[in-house]
Amino acid sequence: MRRLFHFLCAAFIGITSAHAGAVPRPVVIDIGHQYTASGAESPDGKINEYAFWAQYAIEVRKEVEAAGYPCIITNRSEAPTKEPLATYNKESGVVHLNKPDKNAKRYPSTHHPEHIGAGMISADYAIEKRALCAVFLHLNSVGSKWSTTPPTGLIICNKNNGNALGEAVCEAMLTDLLDQPGGMPNGKKGIKVMPRHIGSQSGAGWMNTLDAENIPAIIFEAVYVNNRGHVDFISNDANARKLARTIAKGIVNWLKTNHPLPPAEPEAPAAPLPIYTMEVFPADTVPVPRSFLPDMYGVSASDLPDMYKQVILKGAETPAESVLPEEEQPDAAK
Ligand SMILES: [Zn+2]
Repeated sequence: MRRLFHFLCAAFIGITSAHAGAVPRPVVIDIGHQYTASGAESPDGKINEYAFWAQYAIEVRKEVEAAGYPCIITNRSEAPTKEPLATYNKESGVVHLNKPDKNAKRYPSTHHPEHIGAGMISADYAIEKRALCAVFLHLNSVGSKWSTTPPTGLIICNKNNGNALGEAVCEAMLTDLLDQPGGMPNGKKGIKVMPRHIGSQSGAGWMNTLDAENIPAIIFEAVYVNNRGHVDFISNDANARKLARTIAKGIVNWLKTNHPLPPAEPEAPAAPLPIYTMEVFPADTVPVPRSFLPDMYGVSASDLPDMYKQVILKGAETPAESVLPEEEQPDAAK
């Protein structure tokens, strides 16, 4: 019977999952650059683009998922092997696409070979997953020396699809972080959202590839690793998390407008608890729920052993307690 029960459960689960619907489209968050070619670096060498986002991209993902949207973190290259990056990487569940493009090596897109670029593998992955949007996390830099002049932040978006997403992230940054109390100092310079559609053979041809698939994409470049005020701010762990959560807030605001989730279904009233009949059974058998009638599942009663037919019959007519043998009754009478 135990085996029959398992079979019936499996059959039931099989039926329900067949109706579960299409795979939901994820948000793809890409960590820029790679473990062995980590992008721009602060003049003191303490912060670089890859290592920063390898640690903090998870904060973006958590916020997106908390809003009800699936989210995948990608990186174009191989997984890091040194600590603490290896641990951050594991905890973040980064999907490594294992296509290093060091020295700005460029590849054509699998889906749109007319577009060639570094980091193309991440764009191709977002296309394969039918991403709702793709967000490329970078840090910016102008020169290799410290600057104290606040720069204008930059969010690059793909020309035909990415503008609203770029504006949403910009809005969250201005409202929650830039020049706000306890936020990142930026000399009131703000952020520029810049649509870009450069030649298909240029380095960032991957933005055009996503445009060709109507997938909104942005490159976040609003924090500068050569700016003293920016680096002082993001060197603090709580501030770095706040930056990641602010980017996520912009993404989520865009998602809620452009891909609203269906309203949650009202909870069905709880089903009445099944009544169990108790008998003295052989040691290796289990009581059978009354609701577990064979014809519910198209199983003929004649297929069941006699013992279970009796149990089902009793369960249909008799309150549970009264079928307990006397010696099993609570000893209130003593
Ligand atoms: Zn970069």
